[in-house]
Amino acid sequence: MEDVVIVGAGPTGLMLACELRLAGVDVLVIERLAEPTRESRAGGLHPRSLEVLDQRGMLDPFLAEGRPLPGTRFAGLPLDLSGLPTRYPFLLVIVQRRIERLLEARARELGVRIRRGVEVTGLRPRPASAGAASPDAGAAAASAAAERVVVETTAGPVETRYLVGCDGGRSVVRRLAGIDFPGTPATTTSILGDVELADPPAEHFLLQRTPRGNFSVLGFEEGWRRVIVDEAGATVADWMAIGFEDLRAMLIRVAGTDFGMHSPRWISRFTDVARQAARYRCGRVLLAGDAAHVHSPAGGQGLNTGLQDAFNLGWKLALVVRGSADEELLDTYHEERHPVGARVLSNTRAQSALSAPGAHVDALRVHVGDMLATPDATREIAMMITGLDISYGLGPRVPDRDLPDGTRLFEHLRTGRPILADVSGEPVDGCLVSQLKGFGEQLLIRPDGHLAWKESLGREALSTALRPWC
Ligand SMILES: Cc1cc2nc3c(=O)[nH]c(=O)nc-3n(C[C@H](O)[C@H](O)[C@H](O)COP(=O)(O)OP(=O)(O)OC[C@H]3O[C@@H](n4cnc5c(N)ncnc54)[C@H](O)[C@@H]3O)c2cc1C
Repeated sequence: MEDVVIVGAGPTGLMLACELRLAGVDVLVIERLAEPTRESRAGGLHPRSLEVLDQRGMLDPFLAEGRPLPGTRFAGLPLDLSGLPTRYPFLLVIVQRRIERLLEARARELGVRIRRGVEVTGLRPRPASAGAASPDAGAAAASAAAERVVVETTAGPVETRYLVGCDGGRSVVRRLAGIDFPGTPATTTSILGDVELADPPAEHFLLQRTPRGNFSVLGFEEGWRRVIVDEAGATVADWMAIGFEDLRAMLIRVAGTDFGMHSPRWISRFTDVARQAARYRCGRVLLAGDAAHVHSPAGGQGLNTGLQDAFNLGWKLALVVRGSADEELLDTYHEERHPVGARVLSNTRAQSALSAPGAHVDALRVHVGDMLATPDATREIAMMITGLDISYGLGPRVPDRDLPDGTRLFEHLRTGRPILADVSGEPVDGCLVSQLKGFGEQLLIRPDGHLAWKESLGREALSTALRPWC
């Protein structure tokens, strides 16, 4: 019997697997694809994701393969990141294929088992009902009463204590567990292609709005460009095939040129459909990443939000699996991450509205653009898009700092344990905390770098704070 099965070896599933293994939990990842994807997909990591990787000692290979850019875009309008209060005030341009490769290498190094070429097809509670699974067997498996979940796969059943669906926007786990996915339908479809250009624009990152729609030509890596185009009033039905010629024709209509595109590597589409799982936890079944929220890629937030879901869930699930914390700790995952996902949906909807065609939106963009040029507005929006302003009720993230002994605060989070700074004595028997001296203030920092207690709250509150988190 497995302790935890993760469905999906995308960025979210791999990050979660790393977190669980770091905490000593045995974990099995089941992935439908026989080989890692060759699609480039997402284009970058935000400052908070870079901090998260730093807090686990995983950042260096990402920095070595990526390229820092001082800004990103909000609805296509420039958004400066260089003044943000972080060690990493930039967008690290690195495509998803590379991110997944680096995460998978780290997961394997930690001892995560990844079973590729296997698809999850069903869920049922244990003990299994006699005969064939009933249509709502998955929902029953997800119910609080079920003690174990049997995961049906194309390679046979797997029994597990906890199941996490990191299986993307069309999540089978979400559907089988009967979790609602409410939201708003698509208002536009964008076509994208990774192509070579005989006649590229001079700018490395070109984003333009024309009376016919929006287009961008993005230079993520040498040798090819990402071309994205949407056309006023054009949506493409899900079932319709889209090819290189459709991309070229739409780009010519919107941009007036095809930049001499040829040799496509990947052609795809995306929409601004925005949906969020009503519950991130349903008994022994949890959801993270795109399985829990889908939205347009505006602002490049999907992968980043998924990584940070995993970072919030991993240490909590590990404590529960090891019997060190009550199951209620898992509810804080929903309580803390659902509002974050809801805010991402909201700001991507706002970006969609700001990208719609027409003179009224043109006028609105002028005003929003002027506002975004002011330091306060830049900071507000940049903190939101990059996730640096996220606070979990108990407190915001604690920024990195240099310590008198020559180490950095984040380095002390690499074991995945909470940090107790400058508190003398043994605060709670048996608590696995990293003690830190010479910090300058008394703090309890959670394994995900968020504040759990500070001196001004009083010593009694420390015991209360330590109990659920460690
Ligand atoms: C054009 C584009 C640009 C983007 N740009 C950005 C960006 O710049 N920044 C950003 O943060 N995000 C971006 N995103 C979003 C980002 O790609 C997603 O948010 C991210 O892939 C989500 O990761 P995930 O691990 O949650 O899900 P996925 O990456 O979808 O991974 C899910 C995995 O589960 C597997 N799976 C599915 N069903 C099953 C099953 N039944 N059994 C077994 N395995 C299964 C799949 O094969 C897949 O490997 C972009 C998306 C697009 C389309």
